[in-house]
Amino acid sequence: MKKTKSPIEEADFKELERLAVEEHVLKSSDDQLKREQNGDQDNANKHIWLAVKVISLLLCLGILIYQIPQLYSLAQQGKKSARSGSYSTDANTDQCIHNLWAISGQLQLGQHYENIPVCPLSDAPYIISSEGDLTTARCPNPDSHGFSAIQTSNVYPIPELIK
Ligand SMILES: [Zn+2]
Repeated sequence: MKKTKSPIEEADFKELERLAVEEHVLKSSDDQLKREQNGDQDNANKHIWLAVKVISLLLCLGILIYQIPQLYSLAQQGKKSARSGSYSTDANTDQCIHNLWAISGQLQLGQHYENIPVCPLSDAPYIISSEGDLTTARCPNPDSHGFSAIQTSNVYPIPELIK
């Protein structure tokens, strides 16, 4: 600003005005900057939340994927425990149990086999015996499966393995 002896010259007014405008512009741009910064912060917050959500989602997915083998083995166990007794069984014994399931279904319906299925190990027919209302079907050769009895009945239809 130039100093003059005359009280206030037009130039001074202009200068003052310019300064005032500059200050105003500066101030408002400062405000804008602040607002932008706030906006940035809002955006940053949004991004953080998004990241948190994405990470949680990924974690859930990860846990799910991690659990799949266990779920699968549970499903397998579910399939295997289609009879009572928690023994591991070989393919022949599984087939024998499968046959007993079929017989058990017939017993439930009160039907009787004309051709009684045979145990896959011995090709001998299942032994079906009745005592009053109880009809039991037994594998003819449970010993060869490693059990003392493999049986089902109309009262207890789930094939039973007895050691
Ligand atoms: Zn058998």
